[in-house]
Amino acid sequence: MSCGEAASSLRADLTETERDEMAASRTGLCAICRKASPAHVDHCHETGRVRGVLCFNCNSAIGKLGDAPDTTRRATAYLEGNAWKPTLVAPGVCRLPS
Ligand SMILES: [Zn+2]
Repeated sequence: MSCGEAASSLRADLTETERDEMAASRTGLCAICRKASPAHVDHCHETGRVRGVLCFNCNSAIGKLGDAPDTTRRATAYLEGNAWKPTLVAPGVCRLPS
């Protein structure tokens, strides 16, 4: 694979995320719960980049979780009831959720 191909596949990933956000904003629904009307344009506090449009509840929820993807992933795992399960990272190698 050439450098150009690697870059274009990376762009494809970003475009997919951006497409989701745009789809959410086009349908007039919050990008997270997809139920409520988006009331806030959510920004990354570190980069200032617009992440998407969120309703008040979802915007404040991720804020209360520190805007931290690792924390929200643990919250998701907790809600799914599998936070205690080790993650198989390689055959015979398990990693406990941190
Ligand atoms: Zn929402």
